[in-house]
Amino acid sequence: MKTKSKLFVGLGLLFGMITLLTFLSTFFINKLSEESKNILIANYNSIDYCREMINALNDGNNAIVNEENFNTYLSLQLKNITEPVEATLTQQLSQNFQSYKTDTSAIATLHRNITDIMLVNMQAIVAKDSIAQKTALKAVLWIGFTGTICFLFALLVLFNLPGNIANPIKELTQSIKQIASGNYKQRIHFDKQNEFGDLSIAFNSMAEKLEEYRAGSLEKLMMEKKRIDTLINNMHDPVIGIDETEKIIFMNDIALKITGLRAENVLGKLVQKVSANNDLLRRLTEELVVVTPANAGPLNTAMKIYADDKESYFEQEIVPIKIIPTGEEVEKLIGTVILLRNVTTYKELDFAKTNFIATVSHELKTPIASIKMSLQLLENEKLGVLNAEQQSLVESVKEDSNRLLKITSELLNMTQLETGTIQMNVMPCDAKEIVEYAVSTNRAAADQKNISVKIKYPEEIPTVLADNEKTSWVLTNLLSNAIRYSYENSTVVIELTTADGMERFAVIDGGQGISPQYLDKIFDRYYRIPGSKKEGTGLGLSISKEFIEGQGGFLTVESDFGKGSTFSFTLKQL
Ligand code: ADP
Repeated sequence: MKTKSKLFVGLGLLFGMITLLTFLSTFFINKLSEESKNILIANYNSIDYCREMINALNDGNNAIVNEENFNTYLSLQLKNITEPVEATLTQQLSQNFQSYKTDTSAIATLHRNITDIMLVNMQAIVAKDSIAQKTALKAVLWIGFTGTICFLFALLVLFNLPGNIANPIKELTQSIKQIASGNYKQRIHFDKQNEFGDLSIAFNSMAEKLEEYRAGSLEKLMMEKKRIDTLINNMHDPVIGIDETEKIIFMNDIALKITGLRAENVLGKLVQKVSANNDLLRRLTEELVVVTPANAGPLNTAMKIYADDKESYFEQEIVPIKIIPTGEEVEKLIGTVILLRNVTTYKELDFAKTNFIATVSHELKTPIASIKMSLQLLENEKLGVLNAEQQSLVESVKEDSNRLLKITSELLNMTQLETGTIQMNVMPCDAKEIVEYAVSTNRAAADQKNISVKIKYPEEIPTVLADNEKTSWVLTNLLSNAIRYSYENSTVVIELTTADGMERFAVIDGGQGISPQYLDKIFDRYYRIPGSKKEGTGLGLSISKEFIEGQGGFLTVESDFGKGSTFSFTLKQL
């Protein structure tokens, strides 16, 4: 039975019983009232008339009747005959009253007649009272009976109806909670005939679909995981995944191979524990302790790792994995991936290139030196005086051979830096000696552009801790740049200042300056500012920087674009 029908029937019956109870009560009350009214009108009035008639009889002195009163009440009594015998008795009384007018001795008869009428009415009252009593008893029985049935029914409704509605709702709430907590196997079974039955069918079908969906998505997820696992495993570069609690979550085959580890010994283990017994993993993960923007991303230097039965080079990149969790706004670190890129081929090519450059520049040095020597001999007047044209040709060859010497020297320095074969020979050096070497080397170039080189020493000429040859090379290079990138007839200043135990060598020019966007790039190897018309290799500043930093100093630049630049480096004072 539908809940709606149950409610309708239950409440409807209750309503009907209350109505029946009300009807019965009204009916019996009315009946009792009618009966008592009957007694009052029919019998009580007659007794009252009789009493008045007796009073009228006794009104006169010694049985002289108050006729008028007697007549009045006799007339009323004649109209109020209700009992079967009462009519005859009242007729007799009326006749006797007529005869009394001629025979006054009939008064006793009148008395008797009236008393008889009173008696009849009193008996009727007793009889009717007994009827009323019976009616009252009937009323009590009926109302009691109906009331009891109503009470029992109400009790039944009270105990059944709330439970009938609330229990399924409670069960439904529990089941929804189960579903919400992920138990998609939850089902509910209600009586199939009512609305809750329909609800249980709908709920069960929803749970079934959710279960199917979860199974489907799980399968999909597993599929995706397998796809990613296969992808990572098929990568030729080693990949290591670490979660936010620093446990290793994946390591592809090549990563396992180069580290010599086995998957079952690393997966799910703390990276610190595993790397305690594995030097390579320790090297790879030592940057991981805290992933900061500084150590995230590719590391500049390639790592030499013994893999594939040979020495290989890998570039390491640390990629922090960040997500914004559903419903949140702040990014959260959920792990780190270490990528190793095999750069052995490039490294081998790079070595070949460096070796080639080193050999070529070394081999070029001897012929250039011999050209320079030949030029010096040519200029020697003992061997003959050159005419103006020949002199100009010699000057031009001298310039070219100087440029060639500069290039070979830069290339040689660069190859030595790349192969790590460069040696810093730091010792106390006279700062003035370094400055004078740089000025004398650049004298011809400065004269050519009519540039005057001014030197500003501090009061006391300092002694610095430096590699004389390399520092001279750096200052020569900076001065050469200042002259090359300055306008004709200008001035270049070399200024030495002392502060905090450091000597600062600054080369200040009033040339074209450097646009701010290129300031941090000019120290990169082979970098030349786009559109630079002067000849050059783009190696000078990068070599200079490494030379100075190799001695524990710093090389910096300040430039006002269009107004000039200041290149300066610091060295420790003795
Ligand atoms: P290059 O052989 O090209 O001079 P460098 O490494 O010495 O190589 O310099 C790199 C670039 O920096 C140059 O190409 C030039 O554009 C710029 N540069 C260097 N020194 C100066 C300077 N004093 N004034 C303006 N630009 C300069």
